[in-house]
Amino acid sequence: MTKTDSAPESAVSRASELRDALNRANHLYYIESAPDLTDAEYDALMRELREIEAQHPDLLTPDSPTQRVGSPPSSEFAEVVHPVPMLSLGNVFDEDGLRAWYERTMAFAEIDDAPMVCELKIDGLAISVTYRDGVLAQAATRGDGLRGEDVTPNVRTIRSVPLRLNGDDVPAVIELRGEVYFPNSAFEAFNKEREEAGLPTYANPRNSASGSLRQLDSAETARRPLAMFFYSFGYAEGEMPATQWEALQAMRRWGLPVNPWTRRAETVEEVAAAVKTAGEERAELDYGIDGVVIKLDSIALQNSLGSVGRDPRWATAYKFPAEQARTRINHIRVNVGRTGNLTPWAELEPVNVGGVTVRRATLHNKDEIERKDFREGDWVIIQRAGDVIPQVVKVTDDNVRGKDSVPYTFPETCPACEEPTLDTEEDAAVRCVNAECPAQFERLLEHFASRGAMDIEGLGERLAQDLARNGIVKRLSELYSIEDRQEELAELEGMGEKKITNLLEGIEKSKAQPLSRLLFALGINGVGGEAGEWLARHFRTMQRIQSATVDELLEVDGIGPVTAQTVHEWMNLPVNTTMIEELELAGLTLEDDSPEPPADHPMRGLTLVVTGTLETMSRSDAESRIKALGGKASGSVSKKTAYVVAGANAGSKLQKAQDLGVPVLDEETFNRFLEGELPTEAVAQ
Ligand code: NAD
Repeated sequence: MTKTDSAPESAVSRASELRDALNRANHLYYIESAPDLTDAEYDALMRELREIEAQHPDLLTPDSPTQRVGSPPSSEFAEVVHPVPMLSLGNVFDEDGLRAWYERTMAFAEIDDAPMVCELKIDGLAISVTYRDGVLAQAATRGDGLRGEDVTPNVRTIRSVPLRLNGDDVPAVIELRGEVYFPNSAFEAFNKEREEAGLPTYANPRNSASGSLRQLDSAETARRPLAMFFYSFGYAEGEMPATQWEALQAMRRWGLPVNPWTRRAETVEEVAAAVKTAGEERAELDYGIDGVVIKLDSIALQNSLGSVGRDPRWATAYKFPAEQARTRINHIRVNVGRTGNLTPWAELEPVNVGGVTVRRATLHNKDEIERKDFREGDWVIIQRAGDVIPQVVKVTDDNVRGKDSVPYTFPETCPACEEPTLDTEEDAAVRCVNAECPAQFERLLEHFASRGAMDIEGLGERLAQDLARNGIVKRLSELYSIEDRQEELAELEGMGEKKITNLLEGIEKSKAQPLSRLLFALGINGVGGEAGEWLARHFRTMQRIQSATVDELLEVDGIGPVTAQTVHEWMNLPVNTTMIEELELAGLTLEDDSPEPPADHPMRGLTLVVTGTLETMSRSDAESRIKALGGKASGSVSKKTAYVVAGANAGSKLQKAQDLGVPVLDEETFNRFLEGELPTEAVAQ
């Protein structure tokens, strides 16, 4: 590691590991709409990172996931710069927390009290919709809060979103914000359909809303029953109401769908009562809510309070407590994941939790079972929090164990391949390390073919299982000689001629996927879609990644020590070297075919940070151009930064550059630099 911070090495590497994990989770959640962590697991990682950063402020970087909203927009959509940032929300969990937020806010505003508005916190995804002269002109996702994705054609397919606003008081330009959601009633049927079509299913209605809205083909979005509630406005040209309450009324008048459950409150007690009612009515609603949003009513007050980091000061989310129930563990079972991790789960006596019948719940890992002494036959408390993967929390206080009750013994061999498992101190998970374990391979095959990876249509969970279990595909590379095994394919259930032809076409097409996708598809621990891109861009060929040392891997922006080590080990394992050779022979793309940067450009090898709003290009364009010229575009300023490019409204990064004495360039000088002229002095301040 090259960091010179005063924080101990253990904190430095843990923080970097947590950032890797959170960035990866954000990508899966916001971009792929397919998280592989539960919200509770994600929140726990986020809390740990916040704690480390609080203890060692020198480790806090502006691009840390604790400081950022969501995830940068995906390159598959055109980018939209939000004229007013789309923020996240702070949280409170009880009345004391609510009171503390209210008192802090009143003290900050130097007033005694202020009326509030309570709204349901809809569990979907935030969308901004701009109307020009009353006509829907543009719709965008939140993205990283500053830049989102242009999803206009998709939002136009949502029936409840009007294409034209009514009334003579609609501002000339008005950017309205709200939440797109997938109704609960349609969710199960929709997932079932996907399962039958061999497509990946969505974990919950929120993910299916996000996945459905972010389709590249709007005809596909139109087939899904999305709906939207509007709750605020961003940029406006023209007169806007002075309060949140009036703004909601105005939106309703203009013909926009506004959630009918909205309350005014004067005191913390009134808010708490409203939250209680919302909790009671929750099970009756046809959409998920995970709390109540409390906003100060006066827009002038909102504007004067502003935000701190990613959260506005003038609003907070009162999150509902997790919904719990009491039931019995009938059996403890163990699944084998893609990377060989053995995950235990409880088969439960079915129980209703907040309107959903729960039959199974996660037990996390071996340590958790030992620490909480969960046994088959125990009465336990289970909970659902925010998402649909329920968890076992604890054994009930009144649990009585029979004479034959014994502590659970975690399997020492893999339940799928029966090879001995590995249980190390550093890793909370017990792992099956048999590279040929069929269960791992099934998951890997499914992942390889999935949407963000090689995108082989029709090869979902079910077919992956059939191909692996029938020995038709035993290594990823064998997928590319599958045309020789058509007879065996035809014997699989549901594999008609048309499906086989589609599969073969999908496999053939996947050969052209770029190196970055292949790196992600290989299922190397810690290498998500973004890390795949970083590696491909940096090394440009698979061969160079294979021969890179851990230190060389660490030079890639965004790759932390744990991932660097894993990639190095993975690439040097003989089975993987052979597999890559086979993939190459099959004709896959093992080189990054974007043009090689010019050898003599003065930007080559230099690290630049772009901040603020540029006039002639978006920030991500600027970053792509830096990379195309062989430079590095980083999100945070450090001593390694060669130049900071500052556009309008540059904030903390500009400040940090000045503190560290890093030269700052204005846009004009940066443009000349792109043309090949090395700046001789720092220009902008
Ligand atoms: P958030 O969901 O806690 O709150 C902010 C959002 O609330 C807004 O952007 C808006 O979309 C929404 N909202 C709904 N109703 C609203 C209303 N009436 N007024 C204003 N806003 C309203 O914060 P976030 O930053 O969107 O997401 C963070 C959470 O997402 C995490 O705590 C975690 O639970 C989950 N997450 C999970 C994973 C994972 O891997 N499982 C990954 C990333 C995020």
